Amino acid sequence: MQNKYNTKPKEQILEFLKNHKNKRFTVNEMYESIRLENSNINLSTIYRNINSLIEEGVLLKHQGNDSKCATYQYIENEDCLAHFHFECIKCGRVSHLGAKETNDFLKMIKRTMFFEVEPQNTYIRGICNNCKNVFINF
Ligand SMILES: [Zn+2]
Ligand SMILES: [Zn+2]
Repeated sequence: MQNKYNTKPKEQILEFLKNHKNKRFTVNEMYESIRLENSNINLSTIYRNINSLIEEGVLLKHQGNDSKCATYQYIENEDCLAHFHFECIKCGRVSHLGAKETNDFLKMIKRTMFFEVEPQNTYIRGICNNCKNVFINF
């Protein structure tokens, strides 16, 4: 039996992430945005719902170097757990690398570096094509 008062914050979190599905957010960033629509929501509610969304396989958690700055991204399809993401340092947009390209890259790193990269835990940061073009126009 589901309590509708418990499911609402979860829907709001999901809605927020779906509306910004090409970006990732810290808990605090989600909290600040969702609080504008639901002033009753508190940080522990957000944490609890995020954890259950991760268990359901709907959210990708990126731990980062510091546990305090973990970020979360909505998973459009389960491939997000198996491929690399590129993140623009200017606009924050996240793009998804294809499965074949990810595999080629993994093999190349393994061959040359003897290193097994974890794609689901890796955001390659740089400047996206849109932002690069804006930069050139100036
Ligand atoms: Zn992805
Ligand atoms: Zn950009």
